[in-house]
Amino acid sequence: MTEPAASPINPANTLGLDYRALADALPYRGPVVDIHTHVTSPKAAELYMDVAARFNVVKTFTMTGLDNARKVQPVMDKKVEFICVPDYLKRDQPGTFTTRWLDDIRAFREEFGSRILKLWAAPRVIDMAEETPDFGPDDTPLDSPLRRKGLDLAYDLGYRVFMVHVGDPDTWFATTYKDASRYGTKAQQYEPFERLLNDYADCTWIAAHMAGYPEDLGFVQGLLDRHPNLVVDTSACKWQVRELSKHPEAFRDFCVNRPGRVLFGTDIVASEQMNQVDYDLYASRYWALRTIVETDHDGPSPIVDPDLHKVDPDVPEHSTAHLRGASVPEALWPTLYHDAAEKLLEPVGGL
Ligand SMILES: [Zn+2]
Repeated sequence: MTEPAASPINPANTLGLDYRALADALPYRGPVVDIHTHVTSPKAAELYMDVAARFNVVKTFTMTGLDNARKVQPVMDKKVEFICVPDYLKRDQPGTFTTRWLDDIRAFREEFGSRILKLWAAPRVIDMAEETPDFGPDDTPLDSPLRRKGLDLAYDLGYRVFMVHVGDPDTWFATTYKDASRYGTKAQQYEPFERLLNDYADCTWIAAHMAGYPEDLGFVQGLLDRHPNLVVDTSACKWQVRELSKHPEAFRDFCVNRPGRVLFGTDIVASEQMNQVDYDLYASRYWALRTIVETDHDGPSPIVDPDLHKVDPDVPEHSTAHLRGASVPEALWPTLYHDAAEKLLEPVGGL
């Protein structure tokens, strides 16, 4: 008799956790706003809504290409708001990041009342430009003429919140981006960003993924201090778990010292197109990030983190990071999970 094949371990749940029970056991019982997701298809949206409800998510902001936004909207209805992005699933088609993007900025506003526009400027954008017909090297900088054209159009249409992805994990700068003459240093990524923060000072800017620098919260603090129009979100779960767990006290102090400047977000990708339809995949992101905020948990993360192997090939490929809770004071939870997003959107109609 042959042994039955072991069922493959879910990289979002290596510990075999019951995320439904864990969701119910989290101490914060109030409403949660997720300011940063990518929900791209109706079927994924349905499953996502199930998970989101379990974690008390009352409103989800998603970056979804225009065509799929039209399909996802009826499923999520009043619980969704679309953040305007180019349609990355159509990256091979000319115009996606140029003329079509400008059209989409208008369409998102007119059809969905979008108020947030996202700019993506990870150093990888340089590679993308080489593969994209009409989006070239001159267009890649965060403050390029093309991007400013989009920002100005958005501003004229009434958008008042801009989200950016600037930087990337230190693990990437140590590996993929080692060639600083091509990608720039990590510090250099922030130069065009600070110019935009100054030039669009009457707009609020959300710097995703702890401003791309959970490794150095002192640096992020400096950005916040220099720019009163800047907030950050907690999204990119694996990255945040890996780095914030190295200095949970610093994360707690960061939240305490600048209340209202940290918004809750996950970066969940709920997508049939990208084969990301799985209860535990979505639930693991809510559980891990909320566990960092609300508890003093100290143990292995249940989520495989490929960057551990990426920076150190001696580390096995399916390793998980350590997860240490920061015990952010309970009095700050409503701000972090809900009120900060509400306040941010108050001048443009509220949540
Ligand atoms: Zn994202």
